[in-house]
Amino acid sequence: MLDRDHCLALDAGDPLRDFRDEFVLPEGVVYLVGNSLGALPRRTAERVRQAVEDEWGGQLVGGWNLAGWYEQPLTTGDRLAPLIGAGPGQVVVGNTTSIAVYQTVAAAARLRPDRRVIVSDVRNFPTDHYMVQGLAGLLGGYEVRDFAEGRFDDAAVVLLSEVDYRTGARHDVPAVTARVQAAGALMVWDVCHSVGAMEVDVSMADFAVGCTYKYLNAGPGAPAFLYVNPRHLAAAENVLPGWHGHAEPFAFEPGFRPAEGIRRFAVGTPHVLSFAALEAALDVWERVSMRQVRAKSVALTSLFIDLVGDALELASPLDAADRGSQVSLYHPDGYPVMRALIDRGVHGDFRAPDILRFGFAPLYTRFVDVHDAAAVLAEVLEKELWREEKYARRLAVT
Ligand SMILES: *Cc1c(COP(=O)(O)O)cnc(C)c1O
Repeated sequence: MLDRDHCLALDAGDPLRDFRDEFVLPEGVVYLVGNSLGALPRRTAERVRQAVEDEWGGQLVGGWNLAGWYEQPLTTGDRLAPLIGAGPGQVVVGNTTSIAVYQTVAAAARLRPDRRVIVSDVRNFPTDHYMVQGLAGLLGGYEVRDFAEGRFDDAAVVLLSEVDYRTGARHDVPAVTARVQAAGALMVWDVCHSVGAMEVDVSMADFAVGCTYKYLNAGPGAPAFLYVNPRHLAAAENVLPGWHGHAEPFAFEPGFRPAEGIRRFAVGTPHVLSFAALEAALDVWERVSMRQVRAKSVALTSLFIDLVGDALELASPLDAADRGSQVSLYHPDGYPVMRALIDRGVHGDFRAPDILRFGFAPLYTRFVDVHDAAAVLAEVLEKELWREEKYARRLAVT
């Protein structure tokens, strides 16, 4: 049932199988880190070359008008919107997720000035929680409360990730959103680890943020996105009022007047070359069924869990409905184990103190890759290959 031939047969019947050819993947590598940095779409290099040589080189500063650079935060936002259940005019792209967290949590807090509690998950990806702490400190008089306390009745805003970066555990977005809003608080979702891996729907939420370099494959340093529910667009304030969020940036007025609509959440000059890579990534997503992506993701992660068996303790939920597109395993010597895997062509990553993470990006991960990764893991553990001294030395990025 779980042998290699069976996995090859699953690949042959996979409706998404042809998408793998649209990515550049080195020979001999099983890449299970698409949840950290998505693989390179084949057409990205040409789109970036065009942005550099034809647009920048050929049009110079005229590119802001001629090549549509100025509008990219909004045009790419509209293209990305369907991936998170949003509509046109509701998403702006730019900056980083950290910045977008700051902007949305601050905007939400300002919409509930009578409340002085911000709820955040201490286990969330740390930058989210750091941003909340920094904001609370700047605003003064705010309490930061852990989500696990489960009390929202005096909260202004709740910030949470749909899928946990460490364990892959997934929250029930509609249920949590309804509970938070019924308590009178505003809900901000971070979808960094769910967008591109499953059907995401933030349309009930008040705000949402996410990045484009993980499952969306827009490349290292690609810009983040920020969603505002239309019911807040008129009143929500950007606490980082940069000139690109101004109603008339080129009037160069001394005072800030927010643009109408989602543009008010733009800050400064967009990262034009990174937007080119994002556009190429979105060209792929526009042809993908997210229902098929989620179905394959569930099948890939379930197969990996079955193949690992009880060789290692599972840190991810066993029930696929409660899981994102990653499988996390505990090992007290997780770092050298992962280094030994990478040395043998199986790329996952390590999250301190003791978690091995394997991300399964459904557009380019095959069932046979899952089989081979599990086989290499079994060998590394059985023969204790990870005990080699060279694997213990930590690199700067784990
Ligand atoms: C990846 C990730 C980030 C990254 O933030 P940047 O500012 O883009 O570096 C933030 N939050 C979560 C939950 C993430 O998974």
